[in-house]
Amino acid sequence: MVGVDEVEDGKIEVIGPEIDEMPEGSVFPLGFMIDFYGRKMQEDFEGVLERRIHYNLNYGEGLWHVAQRNMMWVRIGKNAKEAGFKIKDFSEILIAKFKSDFPAIIDRVQVTIITDKDVIEDKIKLAIEKYARRDARLKDLTDDVETYYSCLLCQSFAPNHVCVVSPERLGLCGAVSWLDAKASNEINPLGPNQPIEKGECLDAEKGQWKNLNDFIYANSHNTVEAVNFYTLMENPMTSCGCFEAIMAILPLCNGVMITTREHGGDTPCGMTFSALAGTCGGGMQTPGFMGLGRRYITSKKFIKADGGLARLVWMPKELKEFLGQDLIDAAVADGLGADFVDKIADETVGTTEDEILPFLEEKQHPALK
Ligand code: SF4
Ligand code: ZN
Repeated sequence: MVGVDEVEDGKIEVIGPEIDEMPEGSVFPLGFMIDFYGRKMQEDFEGVLERRIHYNLNYGEGLWHVAQRNMMWVRIGKNAKEAGFKIKDFSEILIAKFKSDFPAIIDRVQVTIITDKDVIEDKIKLAIEKYARRDARLKDLTDDVETYYSCLLCQSFAPNHVCVVSPERLGLCGAVSWLDAKASNEINPLGPNQPIEKGECLDAEKGQWKNLNDFIYANSHNTVEAVNFYTLMENPMTSCGCFEAIMAILPLCNGVMITTREHGGDTPCGMTFSALAGTCGGGMQTPGFMGLGRRYITSKKFIKADGGLARLVWMPKELKEFLGQDLIDAAVADGLGADFVDKIADETVGTTEDEILPFLEEKQHPALK
């Protein structure tokens, strides 16, 4: 969100190579910098508008956008290139859609697309600051509110997938928090984020409410009958395709593991992230497997009905570092002690259950009890 003089309506700029300078099959960094001015624009709306990049770019034939924040992947198909697609055309789509979808809050918009690594590395600092601010605002909220919000944005990929977002469990893409969904509904009351009064509680421990079930059943085109918020093992929430991470059970270790989109390597459940994504994506309910947002791991409600954080036995080193102090704080809050994080195995310890079990035993990991 910028001031009225800081944006030239409709301006498009590409910093870095255009598509003609990119060899077929190559990989480039990509950044979107979108400046909005609107008399009714609020900082709370930024996350909502940002998430629409994902939704709107997928309208482009031959274009594919998945994931969120600074972890997105974009593909441009050969057919799109042959039809004359240029990097600057991302901006055409974005400007047209932002203006038609949000006329009440956007008066001016300009888009800069960056394919130059050094420029991205500089500009991304601002984005990371914004993400930290958004995450911090959620910290004091709890799931004890009457109203959760739906998100149906990903039905363009996974037609039967319904996310329900609560204060302590953000959307599995990691880009839609309860506050974002609430703001989105304020901007667009008939849009993809609808308030749902939880209604009668059917199972307090597993986290199941009648009205949420009814909403999910109707909006999953009568395929998903019930969802439990706080367990992986029975009627877990469905997964579309943009999960930041995937969780899977490890029977031998009596625990669960989590791998991320960024971690390409093997994992103790015998599958890589891509293989797991193929198993539990597409809007299916797969007990024992579930997509999740990275920040859900430090939530007090993290698989609470399965024993919570104490069941977490393996995660990539990078994820541990990403969660940092928040993970330590969550462990302490759960009575697991500050050294709990050191009891969680990672790829340096092993990538099979047999390899990590002796480590868990030596560290007296609580999952084994
Ligand atoms: Fe919405 Fe869920 Fe898709 Fe995120 S993953 S955009 S919360 S439907
Ligand atoms: Zn999705």
